[in-house]
Amino acid sequence: MTHPVRWTPAEGERHATAVSGPGSGKDTEVLTLCGKTVTTSQSDRAWFWETCQHCNREAHRVAGVPMPPATGTEPVRP
Ligand SMILES: [Zn+2]
Repeated sequence: MTHPVRWTPAEGERHATAVSGPGSGKDTEVLTLCGKTVTTSQSDRAWFWETCQHCNREAHRVAGVPMPPATGTEPVRP
């Protein structure tokens, strides 16, 4: 099964990005689901970063997958 989004570690968080066109290489600039343009990180440790909650929610919505209740909350941001 193909999901319409993929996960990209960048700038200290794991963001989701829509899968479209080229851009699966290294150090690629991608537009994340939370509206940022980020450069993907190729660090081995990047996959241990925190998931971007905004991207997480958007990814679930785009994929048509309900959010698990336990992760449906988002920290309050200033
Ligand atoms: Zn994000």
